[in-house]
Amino acid sequence: MKEIKCYGCGAIIQTNSPKEPGYLPEKAFNNERVLCQRCFKLMHYHTKIETSAESIDFVKILSQIGQKDALVVYIVDLFDLYGSMIPGFMRHVGFNDVLVLANKRDVLPKSLKDDKLERYVRRQLKKESIKPLDVIITSAKKNYNYDLIYESINELRKGRDVYVTGTTNVGKSSFINGLLKHYGGIKGFITVSEFPGTTLGMIKIPLDENSAIYDTPGIINNHQMTSRVTHKDLVKIIPQSEIRPVTFQLSGNQTLYFGALARLDYLGDKGSFTCYFSKNLPIHRTKLENADNLYNRHMELKIGIDISKIEDFETISYMVKEPCEIVISGLGFISVNALGIIKIHVPVGIDVIMRERMI
Ligand code: GDP
Repeated sequence: MKEIKCYGCGAIIQTNSPKEPGYLPEKAFNNERVLCQRCFKLMHYHTKIETSAESIDFVKILSQIGQKDALVVYIVDLFDLYGSMIPGFMRHVGFNDVLVLANKRDVLPKSLKDDKLERYVRRQLKKESIKPLDVIITSAKKNYNYDLIYESINELRKGRDVYVTGTTNVGKSSFINGLLKHYGGIKGFITVSEFPGTTLGMIKIPLDENSAIYDTPGIINNHQMTSRVTHKDLVKIIPQSEIRPVTFQLSGNQTLYFGALARLDYLGDKGSFTCYFSKNLPIHRTKLENADNLYNRHMELKIGIDISKIEDFETISYMVKEPCEIVISGLGFISVNALGIIKIHVPVGIDVIMRERMI
């Protein structure tokens, strides 16, 4: 069969594997100028179809951006800042100007001030040697600060192309869809009908005659819990609205289960543990001595999250000497006001980080 490429993303059209790039149902294959199903849905309905991660060479795509003169929009997730950072980001994108959008503002408490959050994000970026031109706190869900983002992009890009980058689930497509909806009708900016062109496995959205915004495929971060659950279950662990923190006063030798995905054992004396997780993830307290039993008997059934991708657990121990936050990447975090030994059990390879308090 003659090789035909999707004119949206450049992937070779195929009719066999819906989850692989370039998929098009056979019945829709009626002409040589075609869009794959993913691009078609993105263009017409602003919805995204997941394609298998293994088949996309993310690093190669990022490095290609490094060779351009462009503005790079780097989206990170405020709910999992560390986990949503791309390792070696600056090395990949070269000397390009970077605008950081810290997304999902709406899931953090309203009482938290934006300037405090911004300073926090800047400190974390500095640790990764990222020097952005600006950091904007946003919420793709609420179109929060979109006017500011629009102005900043237009000012900072200086007529150049814009590449939108980020790991999966940071809200990249929500952001782009939000921009499309917000500015779709404004002359000179994105008009949906002008949509895609072929390039580097990215979606191209023209900005004007000479430049475009490119949606790059999201890099999968295997250290985040989101990589261990099925696509269907993602909405159960990714908070969709402001988190209502739940505080547990624990005495020694007590355990908290976060669904069947992670567990905290407290071996100190007593203290308070405020948990920031999706409201769809039940948290169970039990005695340490009953913890294994509880897991084996009940947990899987109770929360209805498919854990078949999880093979083994590992334990990370901390000696906590001052209040801190413990982050389970891609799942949530616990603000700890307790001293003593804390053990966190997570699926092998999931990052657990002890950090200064954000909240
Ligand atoms: P992508 O993989 O980076 O393109 O991320 P998506 O746009 O598909 O979003 C991943 C998940 O995060 C989805 O469940 C979205 O509903 C959610 N999400 C994205 N942006 C926001 C936001 O600003 N606030 C909240 N609460 N959820 C968001």
